[in-house]
Amino acid sequence: MYESYWQKKGDETTVVIPGWQFMSYFSDATRLCWFLEPEFAKQIVRLHNVVGNAVTENRHIVVGTGSTQLFQAALYALSPCAEAEPISVVSAAPYYSSYPLITDCLKSRLYKWAGDARSFSKNGPYIELVTSPNNPDGFARRSVVNGSEGILIHDLAYYWPQYTPISSRANYDLMLFTVSKSTGHAGMRIGWALVKDEDVARKMTKYIEINTIGVSKDSQVRAAKVLKVISDNIEGPNEGDSFFEFSYRVMAKRWKQLREAVQQSGLFSVSDFPPQLCMFLNRVFEPQPAFAWIKCEGDIEDCESFLRGKKILTRGGKHFGVSPKYVRISMLDRDKNYETFVRRLSTIRS
Ligand code: PMP
Repeated sequence: MYESYWQKKGDETTVVIPGWQFMSYFSDATRLCWFLEPEFAKQIVRLHNVVGNAVTENRHIVVGTGSTQLFQAALYALSPCAEAEPISVVSAAPYYSSYPLITDCLKSRLYKWAGDARSFSKNGPYIELVTSPNNPDGFARRSVVNGSEGILIHDLAYYWPQYTPISSRANYDLMLFTVSKSTGHAGMRIGWALVKDEDVARKMTKYIEINTIGVSKDSQVRAAKVLKVISDNIEGPNEGDSFFEFSYRVMAKRWKQLREAVQQSGLFSVSDFPPQLCMFLNRVFEPQPAFAWIKCEGDIEDCESFLRGKKILTRGGKHFGVSPKYVRISMLDRDKNYETFVRRLSTIRS
């Protein structure tokens, strides 16, 4: 979906790296996160300040190979190593389907997946993942477990104005962001964490050192350029043509088309979202999530296979810890594929 915008920008985001540059493991040995490129750090802080979606003051930035690596680094850093039992990791269902897979992949003695946060009642320490807006259902979220020993990770991959009104600057202890969802550059494999506690930031950095000895500098330099162009355009004379204005308009159009298709078919339902004021775009709008979380109504029990039969590929509810009556569909595909999808959806009849 974002390709057409970046195509229009032409050479503005082109990066040329001569063979002799960025050869060392190190970016800035004086920083806590010694493999973080200073220009990338600068553009992260600048973009958050321009958009107003996260507090960057008194935070350490840790760069990762996608927020996927940072999530693992955070689990490593937050697990109390003196415990005999692995710490429980929970998230309210429906949760991002990769969380359980990543958490239990190596059968760690530090942490283990404990499922839906809403039914978690064990005493003692736990880690709760709060994804806001949530993948897959798009709702804004807060932590749900009411324990005194909870440690929170806020995955804010979708807290950008094309998806949801920016109502305030997020101000949590550990926040994860990624270019995959903010600018569309999933293939760069770049994410960043804003971390309040120095010790936690140090341990996350240590994990990434052990895991991959840092993060591709080529990618960081490219990501810095993309973020810079976004901020430059917002602060320049043609603000109406900025990246978030463009992507907000595409998402608004797609959600309108989706709701019309759902209505025409009559077999499905999608949630309504309460409108809110976006401080960045300075307008009131309803969230327009990166995924459609669709429920098959009536007697269709397995929505994923039903839609596969209609040539629509989705991910079923059971991957997200809920009923197979639900499916998740990406709203970010290229225009042509999205048009085909809504056309097919609108013509489905029982
Ligand atoms: N967190 C959430 C909630 C996501 O939806 C995704 C991507 N699907 C990620 C993290 C992974 O992001 P990255 O590409 O930066 O690893």
